[in-house]
Amino acid sequence: MKTNNLIHGITALCLLVSIYSCSKNEINTTENIQETIDLPQSNSGIAKFKIQSEHGDLTQCDTLSKGNYLVWWDNDIDLKPQVSRMLDSIQAYQKTCVEKLGMQVPNNAKKGVYFNIYVHRGGDPEDYFTGLDTEFGNYVGGNKFDLPIMALPFDLINDFQNVAHETFHVFQDQQNSPGMEKDDSFWYYEATADWFSYVRYPNLTRSFQGAYMLTAIPEAPLWSFDSNFPTGYPTGWKRSNHSYALSNVLYYFSEIEKIDPLNITGSFYAKTNKTAQEYLYDAIGEGKMKGYFLNAAARMVNDHDFLTRAQYANSVELALSDDDQPQDNNQFVLELTDQGTSTWFRPTKKQVTNAWSFNTVKLNSTASSNYNLQFKGDAKGDFGSDSHFGLKIVVKKGEDVRFINVNMTETLEAQHSLNLKDGETAYVVIASTPEVFQMLGNDYQKFSYQLKLDKEE
Ligand SMILES: [Zn+2]
Repeated sequence: MKTNNLIHGITALCLLVSIYSCSKNEINTTENIQETIDLPQSNSGIAKFKIQSEHGDLTQCDTLSKGNYLVWWDNDIDLKPQVSRMLDSIQAYQKTCVEKLGMQVPNNAKKGVYFNIYVHRGGDPEDYFTGLDTEFGNYVGGNKFDLPIMALPFDLINDFQNVAHETFHVFQDQQNSPGMEKDDSFWYYEATADWFSYVRYPNLTRSFQGAYMLTAIPEAPLWSFDSNFPTGYPTGWKRSNHSYALSNVLYYFSEIEKIDPLNITGSFYAKTNKTAQEYLYDAIGEGKMKGYFLNAAARMVNDHDFLTRAQYANSVELALSDDDQPQDNNQFVLELTDQGTSTWFRPTKKQVTNAWSFNTVKLNSTASSNYNLQFKGDAKGDFGSDSHFGLKIVVKKGEDVRFINVNMTETLEAQHSLNLKDGETAYVVIASTPEVFQMLGNDYQKFSYQLKLDKEE
């Protein structure tokens, strides 16, 4: 069934995020602030849910319920205070998702039964849930009643960033949009789950940990995802986790460009056939997403300046330990020092921009110099779709930084006279932002361009 397939996909992915999010970082409880809310008024009138559980056993488990959620854990350990805190947070997330983000409560509530959350001690054969013939992990999945459930390792139940991520999956689960079941929309489930948790907990050092990936493989299209990798596409940690990292771009859109967060969540309940990215583009409107994406790319090239320095350093440190394909790095398609290109430069097919991605050219200057930059975008992508490019230059020296907008003509040409002082480095950011929102055929469509830098002698 459609829904089960979707849940299954999410299940597999959240196992990934548990590795990605949690293996490197010990949980710092001082960073994890419990959410406190006034329980929704409706709770006083709806404490009438029935227990319907495929896995729970009231003789073996302790339980605690608040609102429409029921948590189960092996009764040989006392988790009640931690579970109580977690339930308060989950209800706070539900309030936000339903009242502010246009999402819907899980079907369990509509059917009058509790949403089951199973807390387990993975790897401990004495644990009731671990002892069942079921592999519980850190995920939202489905049960035999065709209803969603959540499973959480006991040591993550007060890791509220993780709980927020998983809870957001619960509210995605009732989505009614055929477009959200397309392979090219699947990246959006993990990206928005991390987006939700990062907006909620923006100051945690381990938030935004995918930052490094976004500038190491900037040419990857928004919708690159395990389920739609073309034949021969590179594999590895960065490629598999790219969808999580894109939460940073969504965060930039909502928190820095201040787009309405309903634009980000709207595709789930719009009954739309559009992919997630096409819905987002249309919801933001007037082609504004092109400019926002270019701005986000430039800010990411500037060492992800909308994150704290500790967050950025954490993402780099994580990559040093977990990146199994460090040679798969396209941070700069060209790097020059005190010289131009002499001829027109065209990036390789491996590095060139896909749809909704970017390239960066780096130019170091050890002495004050003037350069003439010329850009010519190809009119069409290699599958024939119309191209669109945006250009911005980031100039840095130590802590000093300036952003230069470069106008693009309708024929996708641009020119800029660039003056660099002694010791400055220029990053020419080329964003490919065509009105293309899904794969065509079995490959990602490339949108190529040429660029020339002439140094004035
Ligand atoms: Zn997830």
